[in-house]
Amino acid sequence: MKRALITGITGQDGRHLSQFLANKGYQVFGLVHGQANPKIDLVQSENPALELLEGDLRDLSSLIAVVEQVQPDEVYNLGAISFVQLSFKQAELTAEITGLGVLRMLEAVRIVGGTDTNPIRFYQASSSEMFGKVHQTPQTEATSFHPRSPYGVAKVFGHYTTLNYREAYGIHASSGILFNHEGPKRGLEFVTRKVTNSVARIQLGLQEVITMGNIESSRDWGYAGDYVEAMWMMLQQEEPDDYVIATGETHTIRDLLDVSFKHAGIDDWTPYVKQDQRFYRPAEVDLLIGDASKAHSRLGWKPRVSFNELVRMMYEHDLAEESAKAGL
Ligand code: NAP
Repeated sequence: MKRALITGITGQDGRHLSQFLANKGYQVFGLVHGQANPKIDLVQSENPALELLEGDLRDLSSLIAVVEQVQPDEVYNLGAISFVQLSFKQAELTAEITGLGVLRMLEAVRIVGGTDTNPIRFYQASSSEMFGKVHQTPQTEATSFHPRSPYGVAKVFGHYTTLNYREAYGIHASSGILFNHEGPKRGLEFVTRKVTNSVARIQLGLQEVITMGNIESSRDWGYAGDYVEAMWMMLQQEEPDDYVIATGETHTIRDLLDVSFKHAGIDDWTPYVKQDQRFYRPAEVDLLIGDASKAHSRLGWKPRVSFNELVRMMYEHDLAEESAKAGL
């Protein structure tokens, strides 16, 4: 039985990956941080065989102890401060966890190492936010980075640190440059889930308006369930490498509003949407759209869920959840 350790187990991707790996027959271990983490019951109920261990990406000795105890075949480093807006407000903490956290996790892997015949393989959750003010469209593994937020800057540090540990120590360390991926497990602070949840609440008469930032910005949005498969595929390759994972389609937040309100049977959504400068980013990223040709040809990975299906899945989930909560 293969053993996998996931940091960020309580996040959207950690929850998807935990179930994906359990279905593949892995014994899955997750790193949780903080005292009495409120998400423990949820992740445990989704994967009852999951084993949780305490540690923090700010604390190297805790990471070494966890890697020593688990003796994993594969480590998936998904833990991060991942919300771009928050990274502007807590830039130092973001650099500490999203940036230096990668170095610490790689140090733990380097120090514990695994066996000579079975060294630990490492996955780093890199991000399309590293492209920021894009130098090329669509973006590939060869496109240079120009991050536009403390989050993007921290991810660039983590990306190059992963590359450095691959080259300097021969660690099987791969980076997935993942474009935005969403789903019903997405945090409510992220724009896609904020929209589908608010539209569901408007439809149920529980909310009057949604307050938005820049609705003209464009993103390449895929489904998280498809994207965690790509992470696993990267670690099954003979050689470690970097891969862009994206749908190759881009949509504005305006499109997201259109599709979400259509599912609620509302064609003219203008009375329900307000814009507020407070929700604008201090520096916006341009048109993010990924070229995942390398992942298609080398990994055999393809996204399955379309933008429309993704929004429908999220809206229907939120409608059911919000009506149950309100006792409707
Ligand atoms: P997420 O839902 O925000 O989850 C982040 C996880 O990091 C949570 O489990 C959180 O734990 C954990 N964490 C935060 N601080 C930590 C610390 N000090 N020590 C240990 N763990 C800590 O993010 P996600 O959407 O699943 O994304 C997973 C990874 O992929 C992240 O690194 C993200 O930056 C990256 N990524 C995501 C996307 C996307 O579109 N989703 C795209 C590209 C890259 P608590 O909840 O317990 O605080």
